[in-house]
Order: sequence, then C-alpha cells, then structure tokens
Amino acid sequence: MSKLIDTYGRKHRNLRVSLTDRCSLRCTYCMPNDFAAWIPNDDLLTTDELITVIEVAVSQGIDEVRLTGGEPLLRPDIVEIVERIASINDAPRLTLTTNGLRLNELAQPLARAGLNRINVSLDTLSRERFKTLTYRDRFADVIAGLEAANSAGLFPIKVNSVLLQGINDDEAPALLAWALENEYSLRFIEQMPLDAGGIWDRATMVSADQIYKDLSTHYSLTPVDGRGSSPAEEFFINGTSATVGIIGSVTRPFCGACDRLRLTSDGQLRSCLFSNEEVDVRKVLRDPNKEIQEKRIEIASRFQKTVLSKLPGHGINDPSFIAPARPMSAIGG
Ligand code: SAM
Ligand code: SF4
Repeated sequence: MSKLIDTYGRKHRNLRVSLTDRCSLRCTYCMPNDFAAWIPNDDLLTTDELITVIEVAVSQGIDEVRLTGGEPLLRPDIVEIVERIASINDAPRLTLTTNGLRLNELAQPLARAGLNRINVSLDTLSRERFKTLTYRDRFADVIAGLEAANSAGLFPIKVNSVLLQGINDDEAPALLAWALENEYSLRFIEQMPLDAGGIWDRATMVSADQIYKDLSTHYSLTPVDGRGSSPAEEFFINGTSATVGIIGSVTRPFCGACDRLRLTSDGQLRSCLFSNEEVDVRKVLRDPNKEIQEKRIEIASRFQKTVLSKLPGHGINDPSFIAPARPMSAIGG
C-alpha cells in the first residue's frame, strides 16, 4: 500500500534510480557531445547509501525500482547492486534501462542476481545512423547485448526508440518489423526538452501522431484498453497479441496517472523529470550527528516532501515552461 500520495491523489509506486550520470554514448537528444559538467565522484551515492534509500522507499510503498542513468551498466558493482536490491525484504520488482553496450557480458550475471526485466534503447537499424545519433560506432554491441538479454531470459525485452527528423524519422515501420521478428516489445518515445538546452525544437520534433500515421501505413493498429499508469499508449498489431507502444510525452502527456519518483545518482529526489526542485537525501545520509534509524526517518519524511511538491503536470506546453538545467543523463531517464 503506497504511503506516497500527492495532493492530487496520485499514489507513487515506482522509483527510477540513476546509478551514474556517465555514459558510453552521446545520444544527441540526451546530452551535448561536448558535455563536461559531470557530477563529482564524491557526490555519487555509495552502494550502501543507495540501498538505504531504496529500503526506505520500499517501506513507503514503492514496489517497482528501475535502474537507469546515464548508463547504469557503467557502475562497476552493478551486479552486486541488483543482488542487494533483490534481497531487500518485500523486494520491489526490479528492471533496468540500458544502451546495451555492456549487456553481452552482463545479461546472465544480472539475471542470476535477480533482475526481472530489461529495457534496451536503440533508435536505428543502420550502423551509419547509429554513429550520427550517438557519436560512437557501437551498433553491433547493442545487437549483441539484445541477443544476450534474450538468452538470459530477461523477458519481456522492451526496446525504446526516439525518432529525430532528418536522421531516423523514416524508420518506424522498419524498426517495428525488426522488433516483431525478434519478439522485442517496441516503444517509440517522443523527444523531450531534456538535452540541457541543446537541440530540442517543438517544430521539428517527431510527434506521436506522426509515428502512429507512419506505422498505420504498414500495420493495422488497434488500441489496447487499460493503460493504467503506463506512459505508453499500446496498440495490438494486425489483430495479433503483439503490441507496439507510443509515448507521447510532449503532445499527449500522461501526468494524471503518473506514479513515478526519481532519485539522481548524487542523492536528490525529484517528483518529475521536469521539476525544477530537488530534495536532498545525500546530506541526510552523510550527517555525522544522526544514527542510522534517525536517518531513515528523515529520508522517509523527505520522500513525503518530494511527493507533496509534485505539480499536476510537467508544463512543457505552458508558455512559461523552463527546461531542467540538468540533461536527461544526469536526471535519470
Ligand atoms: N543509458 C540508458 C539508455 O539509453 O537506455 C538509460 C538512460 S536513458 C536517459 C533512458 C531513456 O531515455 C532512453 O531510452 C533514451 O532514449 C531516453 N531519452 C534520453 N533523452 C531523451 C529525450 N530528450 N527525449 C526522449 N527520450 C529520451
Ligand atoms: Fe547515454 Fe542513454 Fe543518454 Fe544515450 S540516452 S546518451 S545511452 S544516457
């Protein structure tokens, strides 16, 4: 039972935990290629600190934890982190979002450690386009990572794709054909203004409507009823039970059903990707004058404070909207 209920009645059950802001790719929509404002190492939560915060979150009713970043598989002790979260009392359902580069070596150990499922991000089926989009020539590693996730049984494997005008905006049907062939569950995400003042432009953003139209020229799509708190609108494909998702974060916001909170890798709680406020739990964890039990009580109260500060919506479509100063890689996607 969630104790994290905001002033609009939304119950929070899902915590996105960023393990690092570092990344092995430079996806143009996520962070500038020359980005240099990294979080200092000393500010990153240690694994013990992380586990304390997650235990408190679980005691407040969080029942799903998604590990993310930056690139979560760059965290050297990622397998131990998964193992420790999976052994918490009333362990939450545990998932992870990755660019897939280290998945070939890590899929089996992660599955054994207790990871329930995985999301892999891949925006194109072309090695050349992958290089243009990410500034790195690592397409083959992602494909190998996906195959390893498959062998490790991290099902259902969800693939996230962002389409950018003039780069891969013609690829929606081909990506879906590939996903169906490989039994991956594909979800397109509308590009959001989260690249720290970089390239986002509403006028050129590939919209959910456009993605739907492109897919409809090749597939018959029937809406799936009962979206719950999922950000994706799901569609059955060609009358089968296979589905595709479209996440219209900008043009079809789903804030009314949001059940997510976020913990950044430097120990800041956020009520929304787009909030301009953060609540510091690192300071509590490192307070030399508090015993561990006092720290836990204070962290629980900071979860409450975060939830109570949550706005009804992200406000991207308000004229007064200000994009967060931190890029997506530092907030945790
Ligand atoms: N590095 C991992 C990855 O790429 O999967 C995890 C972190 S990444 C920030 C999580 C997800 O956010 C990815 O699927 C990525 O495509 C998506 N993302 C990043 N920046 C975005 C943006 N500006 N708009 C929409 N989605 C974005
Ligand atoms: Fe890295 Fe993921 Fe951001 Fe791409 S989307 S730069 S892989 S954190």
